[in-house]
Amino acid sequence: MTSVPTKLQQVHDRIASACAAAGRPVQAVTLLAVSKTFGAEAVREAAAAGQRAFGENYVQEALDKIRATADLGLEWHLIGPLQSNKARLVAEAFDWVHSIDRLKIAQRLSEQRPAGRAPLQVCLQVNISGEASKSGLAPADVPALARAVAALPRLQLRGLMAIPEPQGDFAAQRAPHRALRALWQGLRDDGLALDTLSIGMSADLEAAIAEGATIVRIGTAIFGSRPAAAVAAP
Ligand SMILES: *Cc1c(COP(=O)(O)O)cnc(C)c1O
Repeated sequence: MTSVPTKLQQVHDRIASACAAAGRPVQAVTLLAVSKTFGAEAVREAAAAGQRAFGENYVQEALDKIRATADLGLEWHLIGPLQSNKARLVAEAFDWVHSIDRLKIAQRLSEQRPAGRAPLQVCLQVNISGEASKSGLAPADVPALARAVAALPRLQLRGLMAIPEPQGDFAAQRAPHRALRALWQGLRDDGLALDTLSIGMSADLEAAIAEGATIVRIGTAIFGSRPAAAVAAP
């Protein structure tokens, strides 16, 4: 089996090729290693190979890993659905939240962010493919929520996140990413200081980088396949 450091290097190579093809500097894209369902040992292995930013979907699972690796000073991003009863834990433990989709949760995170820490860095999650089952807000609702979240004192709104419907070919993969970027550009044109497009996963990172991704969220290509049962866990 290919080791985590080797797979991490392969992902860096893919990112570098995609940046070269898009005429973008490789430093413009941050690799977020999605460690959900994998243990603290996998995180340590990736960290030893130079990886600093990690993404998690499930709050309780993440908190255990954050505690178990506290000595490493890693950066933690919540990329999964967020319940308001977990807002305090999230505001205390994470550096970023990519999955903001309503004002109430954003207000709670802002209220609960500890005074001694930097503002919580956040993205709004957009349901860009219009799938009924997916979380995220409708594109039409993004401008109003973006203004409201940008005004919260203990959050810093950085940009938009999406999980497009899986597509096989490159052109089809690019379309939803392009739509998200257009929405993001519109917000910037209206004066919001956004610098983050959180798009691109193991299967479509090239298409996302072609459309301007600044954070790619990569799990499988770094850590291997996740056990099927754990994917559906709450
Ligand atoms: C699991 C997950 C990823 C990583 O997906 P891979 O296909 O394993 O790279 C990225 N983003 C979100 C929101 C996820 O839930």
